[in-house]
Amino acid sequence: MIQLEKSLTASLLKKAENSVLNTAHRPSLVMERGEGMYLWDTDGKRYLDFVGGWAVASLGHSPAAVQKALSRQASTLVHASPGYYNRPMIEFADLLTNVSNMDKAFFASSGAEANESAIKLARKHGAVNLNGAHEIITLTNSFHGRSLATMSATGKAKWKELFAPKVDGFKHVPINDLDACFAAVNNHTCAIMVELIQGEGGVHAVDESYLYGLRKICDMYGMLLIFDEIQTGMGRTGKLFAYEYYSIEPDVLTLGKGIGGGFPLSAMLTKSKYDLFEPGDQGGTYTGAPLAMAVGCAVLKELLEQNLAGNAKTQGQYLESGLHELARDFPISAIRGKGLLLAFDVPEGAGSELAAICLREGLLINSPNPTTVRLAPPLIVTQKDTDDMLSILRRALGQLQTA
Ligand SMILES: *Cc1c(COP(=O)(O)O)cnc(C)c1O
Repeated sequence: MIQLEKSLTASLLKKAENSVLNTAHRPSLVMERGEGMYLWDTDGKRYLDFVGGWAVASLGHSPAAVQKALSRQASTLVHASPGYYNRPMIEFADLLTNVSNMDKAFFASSGAEANESAIKLARKHGAVNLNGAHEIITLTNSFHGRSLATMSATGKAKWKELFAPKVDGFKHVPINDLDACFAAVNNHTCAIMVELIQGEGGVHAVDESYLYGLRKICDMYGMLLIFDEIQTGMGRTGKLFAYEYYSIEPDVLTLGKGIGGGFPLSAMLTKSKYDLFEPGDQGGTYTGAPLAMAVGCAVLKELLEQNLAGNAKTQGQYLESGLHELARDFPISAIRGKGLLLAFDVPEGAGSELAAICLREGLLINSPNPTTVRLAPPLIVTQKDTDDMLSILRRALGQLQTA
């Protein structure tokens, strides 16, 4: 039996090599099944998931709420057309705008599209209200997506020359440096776009006084303040939205990842004041599609009913204290983050080695750069799961060669 499974995996990997474009460093295994905190590969090996599908599997893997919403909606209406309202679209827009204190929603399938929508809305605002201003200020080390415009908005040094020419109109300034931001503003600026915690950038938060300053600058010049909460939103940081920690509201809010619990879904929300799009300005075949909308409703209701943001906060603190304990015995440092978006530093180069050892030991963790390990488990994680994770991590740290 085991032999059969091994040969199945080998033949799948062979086909993958022949037929799947190599756009990611993928280990030699094939994921087959998920349930709660765990994934299983085609050899039947089980993995405790502290990557959470990259902060996506908010309710865990293959959650009942998503299964139910999908099968119910699939047997009612799969697709109507972006040219018609459908019931779950209206219900989800109503629910999401209520809980976020925003007024209007546009839906898409990926985070990049939500940010593209925010960029378009900012340019529209510039065209309509700011004499054609079109520049957007974003942060160094930020991540906003992989479409051409969102790559241009992204502040990754490695991406500077990639796929030239870049989309024009983005200025990057260092995080938590208000003077630098002020200096970058001119009469072509229409918006400032920031992540409240830079996720891909290694889990670095904006300071409260800095965010307050950005709000002031935007108010002063009538520019839009855009929060990219694609990674930090939907309970991830211990509040439904990370901006609640700062008591500072955006004019535009983008959401993705955890919002669909694994189903492709994203949203751009704004205030009535910036309800500027006219028919034709923005759209997409799958905007507000019934399946995604039904899932969005179900995920959000589950987040609220189970108080998963609260669980993220409690379990995040527990995980963080466990990491501090490990830091007494191993070379891990700079433990940081909020709720269940956490990171720590390891010696140069040890990040991917540690992730590889953990994988072997049945634990998934993510290393966004050579010195950083990031953790973003499902929001349903329990203390027992975290204990299990910490003991595997301890074992893995003991095997590190780089340290
Ligand atoms: C993941 C991410 C995106 C891009 O989302 P996709 O769904 O991959 O297009 C944008 N912004 C932030 C902050 C993200 O974490």
